[in-house]
Amino acid sequence: MKNICVLGVTGSIGLQTVDVVMNHSDEYHIVAMSAGKNITVLKDILTKISPKHVCVISEEDCRHLQEEYPHIHFCYGEQGLIKIATLETVDLVLNAIVGFAGLLPTIRAIENKKTIALANKETLVVAGHIIMPLIKEYGVDMLPVDSEHSAIFQSLNGENKKTVSKILLTASGGSFRDLTRDQLKDVTVEQALKHPNWSMGAKITIDSATLFNKGLEVIEAKWLFDVDYDQIEVFIHPESIVHSMVEYNDTSVIAQLGTPDMRLPIQYALSYPNRLPLMNSERLSLAKVGTLHFSSPDMERFHALELAYQAGRTGGSMPCVLNGANEVANSLFLNGKISFLQIEELVESAMKAHHVVGNPSLEELIEIDAWARQHVMKQLGEE
Ligand code: NDP
Repeated sequence: MKNICVLGVTGSIGLQTVDVVMNHSDEYHIVAMSAGKNITVLKDILTKISPKHVCVISEEDCRHLQEEYPHIHFCYGEQGLIKIATLETVDLVLNAIVGFAGLLPTIRAIENKKTIALANKETLVVAGHIIMPLIKEYGVDMLPVDSEHSAIFQSLNGENKKTVSKILLTASGGSFRDLTRDQLKDVTVEQALKHPNWSMGAKITIDSATLFNKGLEVIEAKWLFDVDYDQIEVFIHPESIVHSMVEYNDTSVIAQLGTPDMRLPIQYALSYPNRLPLMNSERLSLAKVGTLHFSSPDMERFHALELAYQAGRTGGSMPCVLNGANEVANSLFLNGKISFLQIEELVESAMKAHHVVGNPSLEELIEIDAWARQHVMKQLGEE
């Protein structure tokens, strides 16, 4: 029996993790979980599973929940997240928090020798230079949940890493993949939230439309698989069937394919190195799919991807600035405060204004993240 702590249980990945665990309750047990502000969804989860520990964001929600569920230990805030991610009873922490808030709990969980199943890509984007050495130092496994990185991880199984020549990262292209830059000027939030292939949380759906998501994934892949940026190539693949590939020095390309269902990479991160049946899932029929398409992204059209490569190649604190500015700009767009194209304009503006710090510490990253967010707000005349 594997004891799991799910951070971000009320989100898209969190809920699918609950589904996977409930379908394999003889293998996995959720002993601890965190929610943010969505207490209705949290309460619904608590009708299905009964963890010993639950963390929420606010002290007030914590107090009310404690009265209603006296048999569960409730905690709150960042310290609460760290508490549940480092519990002695926890074997594996699945981090499905969105954004920078996922960083500190990941670090503390590694320091407490927990296996990490990572959906929270922002952790590696911002602090890959801190996380990867920590993983080595504490001898823990970090298993990717992102479907592309799970595909790469599966395509590397049993291979000699030194023979890898390229990582081929596929991208659906998001909601606006067929629009020109001119047509992007007037797109709405509702249109951006309609992803053609995947049903995901709001932030990542907007990131998929801008292609910042793919940019974040490029940086995530650099750290997870220890390759140079020149070895990571992105392809637009509208069908989302080939989840990513690895090319080897003998020209072989190994890929992982499947229908778009996030429960598969979630479950593989829990079951690795074993495989388990995936309940209620559709099997891939290539005959039905018929044709698969691949093309190289136009970096002028998908400027956000270009910016992410730039930030990654610059290194140091630049990916942290890209991430922090994008988190704020993404949320401003979602709230109808800025236009779609302003997201990348604001990120680029923060990157241009930033003085890079070579090897930033955690404390410096927290400051730089705050600076990037403030910079974006200042550009809009708000503090
Ligand atoms: P959601 O927005 O659906 O869920 C995010 C979760 O994090 C919720 O439980 C939310 O709580 C919680 N949360 C938000 N802010 C905070 C905070 N400041 N402190 C603590 N908890 C917080 O996101 P997704 O599930 O879509 O994505 C989660 C992560 O997984 C992201 O990093 C994303 O990039 C990555 N990912 C997602 C995929 C997907 O298919 N969804 C695919 C691959 C990667 P609440 O809702 O209760 O407020």
